[in-house]
Amino acid sequence: MGIDYRGLRDPNAEYTMRDLAAESMGVTADRGGGRDVEITDVQTTMVDGNFPWTLVRVYTDAGIVGTGEAYWGAGAPELIERMAPFLVGENPLDIDRLTEHLIQRMSGEGSIGGVTVTAISGIEIALHDITGKILEVPAYQLLGGKYRDAVRVYCDCHTETEGGAGPPDGKPTGEDPPAADPIAVAEEAERVVSDLGYDALKFDLDVPSGHEKDRANRHLRNAEIAHKKAIVEAVTEAVGHRADVAFDCHWSFSGDSAKRLARALEQYDVWWLEDPVPPENHDVQREVTRSTSTPIAAGENVYRTHGQRRLLEEGAVDIVAPDLPKVGGMRETVKIADLADLYYVPVAMHNVSSPVATVASVHVGAAISNALAVEFHSYELDWWDDLVSETVIEEGYIEVPEQPGLGVTLDMDAVEAHMVEGEELFDEV
Ligand code: MG
Repeated sequence: MGIDYRGLRDPNAEYTMRDLAAESMGVTADRGGGRDVEITDVQTTMVDGNFPWTLVRVYTDAGIVGTGEAYWGAGAPELIERMAPFLVGENPLDIDRLTEHLIQRMSGEGSIGGVTVTAISGIEIALHDITGKILEVPAYQLLGGKYRDAVRVYCDCHTETEGGAGPPDGKPTGEDPPAADPIAVAEEAERVVSDLGYDALKFDLDVPSGHEKDRANRHLRNAEIAHKKAIVEAVTEAVGHRADVAFDCHWSFSGDSAKRLARALEQYDVWWLEDPVPPENHDVQREVTRSTSTPIAAGENVYRTHGQRRLLEEGAVDIVAPDLPKVGGMRETVKIADLADLYYVPVAMHNVSSPVATVASVHVGAAISNALAVEFHSYELDWWDDLVSETVIEEGYIEVPEQPGLGVTLDMDAVEAHMVEGEELFDEV
């Protein structure tokens, strides 16, 4: 007798391969025994952090609620609201099936990239929180267990003299911010290492130098490269071997300028140079990476494993930098890390999130062999960790939570105090 596979891709099918397998082993194939739980509601609240953080809560009829977070971006709450009917009545333990279900149902909205993937990521994280709580295991255990008990955090740093980073946007107006001062950048590096206890840092390198003539053409003049070199030299000499330091270019430069910059920095042993060229053309990315011994990182601007595939397969990055609540969620980040590991490429997780998605990144960082570090982008925001009851970052590391699920508990007073105007607080469980 043949097996009927027709129900396999149908999330509403009552009789699936799992049931058939269970029956063949003489196991009762009903939905009880811990699987007797259904999603009842999905809600969001946006918090006004140094980015807008879209917090997600998935409610169940077991009285257990899961918390997730979607990467910032207008539209995520609306998309999550659109997806809620596809989840209500479903079993939250089937994380992969539900995530795939959402990708398929939202394909018209563009679930291969952009804010739709971000919205799905927030739900996927919440499903890990629920599943961990129901099975009474920490989320990393759902991902295959852990390689490490604490995950290294790198601190994204800024100085007042930088005048703000950003992509080139045309000719200087004469009202541009002053040139970044290499000495001030080095002093901030020293402060973050000595006073805040980090041994891993990142600074922006797409900062004003006072030598820009035309930012729209992406060309770096020699004087600009010399200024960037002075920043890198000042910082790396200040911290020496006490810290690893990366530098971010935010997709700013032409291919030849990126190569010249990367070559000029080779003598300083930077941790990595991030996103020197725009993110769309992997061929140029590969040429830049192969032209230099300076390690090149990229990846925060592509989505899902499909988006990272060519970067990895073609040797276009030395370090891959997915953003977990943007790229597709926890399982998707593990898939990317596994693919990266086939090419012996380590993973530095981009992160600008609240403690919720930061800790989701920590669970993945614990569960993959090739984790370098997780970014912390909010050291100037003194209430960042007030959003959860737990202590998060200590001495430049985050201890991997051992509580069921993500192991973070939203402090609802803090969430309410920092909600974006017009947002509503989550319902009580
Ligand atoms: Mg970056």
